Amino acid sequence: MAQETIFSKIIRKEIPADILYQDDLVTAFRDIQPKANTHILIIPNVLIPTVNDVEAEHELALGRMFTVARKLASEAGIAEDGYRLIMNCNRHGGQEVYHIHLHLVGGQPLGPLLSL
Ligand code: AMP
Repeated sequence: MAQETIFSKIIRKEIPADILYQDDLVTAFRDIQPKANTHILIIPNVLIPTVNDVEAEHELALGRMFTVARKLASEAGIAEDGYRLIMNCNRHGGQEVYHIHLHLVGGQPLGPLLSL
């Protein structure tokens, strides 16, 4: 059984978060330490620790994460200029919270994809 993270508490609204969207499959909220003018996290309501744990049964929720990303980017007014969707996996990917999440970042030029 995977260990819950703070994100499960956000989904259940047990701790405060700036939730922008929630349905039966996904929740989206503002990142507490934004790295860009717009920085939103989109997560599945079911706990999937990393991309390595993704199964076929998760495909509906994972697809919903993208349609919600599109909707929130449009609402934020950044769709036309563009934005970046990022999902980190494990240590080398820089993952800190082990409940998969799609970072939606934009609102400014983002520079190169990687700075190693
Ligand atoms: P990652 O490094 O991909 O695992 O990203 C984790 C992200 O979660 C970071 O950008 C954090 O700022 C963000 N984060 C951690 N705790 C919270 C929280 N309570 N509310 C909103 N964002 C959070």
